[in-house]
Amino acid sequence: MTVSPTARQLVEAAESLFTAGVMSHSGHANLSARLDSDRFLLTPGFVRGLRPTDLATVTLDGQLLEGELRSVSTEIIAMHSAVYRARPRVGAIIHTHSPAATAFAVAHRPLPCRTEPMLRFGQPEDVPVVPWGPRGSDVSVRGIASVLSQRPTTSAVLLANHGLLVFGPDSAATAHLVVAIEESAEAELAAAALGGAVDFPAGALADVQAAIARAAS
Ligand SMILES: [Zn+2]
Repeated sequence: MTVSPTARQLVEAAESLFTAGVMSHSGHANLSARLDSDRFLLTPGFVRGLRPTDLATVTLDGQLLEGELRSVSTEIIAMHSAVYRARPRVGAIIHTHSPAATAFAVAHRPLPCRTEPMLRFGQPEDVPVVPWGPRGSDVSVRGIASVLSQRPTTSAVLLANHGLLVFGPDSAATAHLVVAIEESAEAELAAAALGGAVDFPAGALADVQAAIARAAS
């Protein structure tokens, strides 16, 4: 079996999350990478010790084309498909229970963009919260699609009472953004003990947003 660069990059991205220390104790995550308009690679239900040949190939409609998926992974196909459908330019998606970001998800608090890494690595706006719904359920998937349509430039959402969902052009960039978001959530929580985090100066977010819009056009 030949291993595609897309598969290799996805496995490297998964490893980088452990190396960066942004995983929860359980090591739970699922990652995917788009192959074309209708197919994507998906982690099989675990990410620790993942090899490229462990990845499954599925369609946006949830059909398993190649590989094996644990039943827990079958549930999350729809979560990934909702993002690929809403965002044709998205090439990779990562879901984690990164602890500090998950604290914001559990508190139903959007995560503000108040750190340099978040500003620079693709999320120059707050991370919105998607209302809770059981994992992979229609309620959850519709909630994700709804927030993505309301927030056309966000590259991440917090899943209420659950965790973090981040998406980007490829696996490496998406993993970088997961790390930037988790760092930002940690900094927000630490700054709360010092009286609270402070916003960027007026115009800082708008300048970066304008630069991103120019690059995308
Ligand atoms: Zn989860």
